Amino acid sequence: NSIDSLQPLETTISDMERFAEVALLELSCPNCNIEFPFGGIIASNYYQMCYNGLQCKKCEHMFTPLQISSQLESCIRSHISLYYAGWLTCDDSTCGNATRQISVFGKRCLNDGCTGVMRYRYSDKQLYNQLLYFGSLFDREKNKNQELKPLYLTGDSDFPKDSLKESSIRALSEQNRELLEVNQGVVQKYLSDCGRRYVDMGSIFDFMV
Ligand SMILES: [Zn+2]
Ligand SMILES: [Zn+2]
Ligand SMILES: [Zn+2]
Repeated sequence: NSIDSLQPLETTISDMERFAEVALLELSCPNCNIEFPFGGIIASNYYQMCYNGLQCKKCEHMFTPLQISSQLESCIRSHISLYYAGWLTCDDSTCGNATRQISVFGKRCLNDGCTGVMRYRYSDKQLYNQLLYFGSLFDREKNKNQELKPLYLTGDSDFPKDSLKESSIRALSEQNRELLEVNQGVVQKYLSDCGRRYVDMGSIFDFMV
């Protein structure tokens, strides 16, 4: 699909590796206000996917399609504004210099005696990868084939008590086809912008990376 076509050359690495550093998609229930990470059609103590959508396990509220897509969109926007804030930080962990200005000396840290290099705190590549992650959560094939980055590791305090059968996951992926497609469309809208920029920015800011 079109999201996959934007992916860089690293197609052989798993989502677990590719998305090791991403922020999770946090949803909040519009009815009981509980917040939980959404990780696709997977087992969770906080939500379940039903044949007709996403349900909060605490209060049994069924999310309307808009209640999911608008939260997804506002999450994407907050990542994009973080990126546009354009903060640079010194890579010397003992220095901690942070600035929004690129000095006339380019990438050198201007703190007295510091030999560190200033880098974008939130890089273009990071934002791009973050958007790919959000997109993956609503990728029907990835859901079906259980190729998503796991939200929980064995031993986590909120590791799901129940598990989901492979056959249920496959059925739910089909039953929620529209929900998945709508939300992938939301991500795609931002991703295609970002993909173009990713290519340009790479060459413009070569000296920064
Ligand atoms: Zn709820
Ligand atoms: Zn420094
Ligand atoms: Zn970008």
